[in-house]
Amino acid sequence: MTTSRGPRALFPWLMLAASPCLVGLAGPARAQSPAAHQHGQVDLAIGLDGPMLTLALEAPLDSLVGFEHAPRTAAQRQLAQALLARLRVPTGLFTPDPAAGCTPGAAELDAGVLEPGAKPSANGHAELSATYTWTCTSPAALRSVDLAGLMSAAPRIARVNTQVAGPQGQFKVTLRRPATVLRWGR
Ligand SMILES: [Zn+2]
Repeated sequence: MTTSRGPRALFPWLMLAASPCLVGLAGPARAQSPAAHQHGQVDLAIGLDGPMLTLALEAPLDSLVGFEHAPRTAAQRQLAQALLARLRVPTGLFTPDPAAGCTPGAAELDAGVLEPGAKPSANGHAELSATYTWTCTSPAALRSVDLAGLMSAAPRIARVNTQVAGPQGQFKVTLRRPATVLRWGR
């Protein structure tokens, strides 16, 4: 048994072992932000499952409040509090097509670094995610959602990238300010 040759013989193995390891590290890092983080834009996923309508919002904080760290000034604290209060109430924020007869249910908000005591983000960027549900009496009639409330609550949003999945199929819809109504299907 020689100790001098051991490390050299092992070296190729270390290289091989390192590669999958790096791939493994890159995977979860990417998975943390599945949507493209683009300032001025937000991502919306709209899903219809039977009578249940779900709307998931993913937004860079820059698109909502103009900063991506815990509020540092009184003005930033006010802005963040007002926005979070608004985002917790789906009524008027998102208005599903009245023909679908949807009644708002739960709203879940994860405001990331805007939450009290939250840790700063590792890469300097930070996001907010929110999920809203409705129960609809005529879900098949749903062909639009009015985002006027969201667009006025967050004037920095210039573009909303939307994916819709429901009984009518899947649609990609892009909404650009000043438009406020998402429409799909026919
Ligand atoms: Zn950012």
